[in-house]
Amino acid sequence: MDAKTLSLLHDIFQEVQQKQDWKTALDTLFVSLRGSFVFDNVAIYLEESDTKSVEGVYARAVGREKTAEADSVWGEGVATDVITKGKMIVKEPTRNFTGKTGRLKLAYLLGFPLYIGSKLSGALVFIRFGGPAYSELHIQIAALQAFWATALIERRDLQEVRAQMDSVQRQMRLQDDFVSTITHELRTPLGFIKGYSTSLLRLDTVWDEATQREFLNIIDEEADRLAKLIEDMLESARLHSKTVQFKFSPVRIDSLVRDVATRINTYHPELNISFELQPIPPIYGDGKRLSQVFENLFSNAIKYAPNSELTISISSAANNICVAFSDKGEGIATEYLPFVFERFYRVPGERTVTGTGLGLYICRQIIMAHHGTIWVESALGSGTTFFIELPIDGAEV
Ligand code: ADP
Repeated sequence: MDAKTLSLLHDIFQEVQQKQDWKTALDTLFVSLRGSFVFDNVAIYLEESDTKSVEGVYARAVGREKTAEADSVWGEGVATDVITKGKMIVKEPTRNFTGKTGRLKLAYLLGFPLYIGSKLSGALVFIRFGGPAYSELHIQIAALQAFWATALIERRDLQEVRAQMDSVQRQMRLQDDFVSTITHELRTPLGFIKGYSTSLLRLDTVWDEATQREFLNIIDEEADRLAKLIEDMLESARLHSKTVQFKFSPVRIDSLVRDVATRINTYHPELNISFELQPIPPIYGDGKRLSQVFENLFSNAIKYAPNSELTISISSAANNICVAFSDKGEGIATEYLPFVFERFYRVPGERTVTGTGLGLYICRQIIMAHHGTIWVESALGSGTTFFIELPIDGAEV
């Protein structure tokens, strides 16, 4: 190999390595060597380890007679042969065809086995329409590309495993934090209940009626808090294990949100809620669980955006009902936004606000069970908006 070739390979290697996404890296690899090895289409197929079916995972059309990028059906047969035999296959036309359409039938195929993690797992297939036949040098360059493609797929697998490990580690950390949070969350209301009931039961003190009522109100509120906490824990466990039975019927989201707001307003008369409503059709949904979603959003707004006015806009667009639930509170820093819907996740910091990190997880699971989406937009100092989209599916009330 001469110095010029080595330097060329070195440059290509560097350019390919710098591409984060494996498909973009493969694009760079194939395009940069096309000067030395011409082909029309290229595709990669991987074998499903359970079903043994062969599936196209990458396809590019770079030359004549471009096929759709995702269209990789043309090489499936050769890929299957390559995987079965575990060796390179060159397939050339046995008959001659003429004319433009005839040339398309003159398919020259070249397939290489891909050994991923030293296990035969797939094939890389090139096609040339109308030839010429693959020379010894072409086959060597293509073999080099197959080797490189293997390394890129292994890199992709490694990135996936790393991401999974990060997620598992984060989940474990959150679970640890959850144990201490939950201990605190259970102890606090229990402490109040025990303290005030013991005071009321003291034989050496006589409480006037107003004080008795005040103590009983505190006990009542704290018992509600405990019940809500236990309900949230059970609900999140049920949603997590997918054992929740949803009861679907036609629901009007606008009336549902208004009902929840009225209920919340009776406990929090200071809450300033304004509505921007457009006429919307009903949807199929589980009214009780959808109410739970909005109760959680209200409860969060009360906790994290105290004294802020709330704006709820409801509209419909395309085939969705869209709800935007906005507060003008402190907001959430951008770095924490991707995690707020995770189970047990609480934004770190000097928070005196109580919570378990289950509320938004429950919201997301419920919305997902309705084939909808929920997401958040927020920035520190400029408030928070939760968006919900639910599909309109022709329900009639
Ligand atoms: P919890 O309130 O029990 O901590 P959630 O799952 O309801 O759990 O919320 C997750 C985190 O998202 C909260 O800890 C809080 O930091 C943040 N958050 C939720 N809603 C708001 C909001 N309206 N404004 C600011 N931060 C919020």
